[in-house]
Amino acid sequence: MEAIKIKNITKEIKLDINKIRKDFPILHQDVNGKSLVYFDNAATTQKPLVVINGLDDYYKGINANIHRGIHTLAERATASFEATRDSLKTFINAKHREEVIFTRGTTESINLVAATFGRQNIKAGDEILISSMEHHSNIVPWHMLAAEKGAVVKIIPINEQGEIILEEYEKLLSSKTKLVAVVHVSNALGTINPVKTIIELAHKHGAKVLIDGAQSSSHLDIDVQAIGADFFALSGHKMYGPTGIGILYGKKELLEAMPPYQGGGEMIGEVTYTGFTVNELPYKFEAGTPNIADAVALKYAIEYIQSIGKAAIRKHENDLLSYATKSISQLEGIRLIGTAKEKVSILSFVMEGVHHQDLGILLDQNGIAIRTGHHCTQPLMNRLGISGTSRASFALYNTTEEIDIFIEGMKKASKMLR
Ligand code: PLP
Repeated sequence: MEAIKIKNITKEIKLDINKIRKDFPILHQDVNGKSLVYFDNAATTQKPLVVINGLDDYYKGINANIHRGIHTLAERATASFEATRDSLKTFINAKHREEVIFTRGTTESINLVAATFGRQNIKAGDEILISSMEHHSNIVPWHMLAAEKGAVVKIIPINEQGEIILEEYEKLLSSKTKLVAVVHVSNALGTINPVKTIIELAHKHGAKVLIDGAQSSSHLDIDVQAIGADFFALSGHKMYGPTGIGILYGKKELLEAMPPYQGGGEMIGEVTYTGFTVNELPYKFEAGTPNIADAVALKYAIEYIQSIGKAAIRKHENDLLSYATKSISQLEGIRLIGTAKEKVSILSFVMEGVHHQDLGILLDQNGIAIRTGHHCTQPLMNRLGISGTSRASFALYNTTEEIDIFIEGMKKASKMLR
């Protein structure tokens, strides 16, 4: 990959977006006869060449099963796989490399915690707190656990801007609270939640905290030690990496005390016809052949983000969000959904009198990819009294010119649909 120059003019960090865009081959195509404008980054980000080539190189020169082989390819594959674990340790600032468990992504990471920590520690009458803005991945596993154990899921309310009401959260905390599971950045609203405060308050009551970092990992600096998270989940595909790979971070002492998640190869110490012993961390939670190739390629995504720098990415994305918010607010009949003070580059809105799906289809006809619907946050949509939103979400390779095209598309759609 070519080095990306970041001009650091005192406070201003400027990215060479044209150069960055060249790293993403998928962006340079026509869709429905128009240049693609990809604004569905909160669903999944596109992949830079370093990641695509990383996958290619892996299958062409490295592929073997890991950990158990003694031949050269097996050692190469193991080293590459474990190197990504080291990168992720640094990326989230975990204290120990064995606190980083490979999973399929955020969904599996949360299910892992529910099925192990949850089953072991949550009993009838205990309470699990989640916020009103959770993704289904951070709701359904807790409903399943609560149904199994006779526990109670309680909901932390939000205000009209889409921010957690901390005073109400504090009122919900008690000795019955065993777990708080909260999203770092809302995929539907863009809100950045004050996770450090949320965690500190939970810890005062002896509750553990899981942070869903699916949306924060590509936008914000992640420091699991600084925020004090007990568990932190992320997905590679939301941060310019491949699909089907992600991690669960857990504090070592918690992971050590938890039972294994799935049984199979790798997670065992010794197996007999009558039983088994459990392997050490992190392998205890990594039964079976993992997604080696995508784990290896994820390292290139992390390096790509690091080569640009989160501060520069954040600045660019914030500029895009401000520009888009200002532009869209000048259109008639637009209601923004999610106006928190602290936001990432997610712009959710309702066009009055127009169904979001119709708007999405019309924009797609103009080569503009946005997401419409409930964004896997049905309870949040119910809370807001809407069936869904249209959502444009921006990544480091997006431009203000693309936002102009999107706004023109919106004007056209508004004329046709209203
Ligand atoms: N949590 C949030 C906030 C998300 O936005 C998503 C995906 O959209 C998930 C969890 C689930 O992530 P994955 O599908 O990668 O497991």
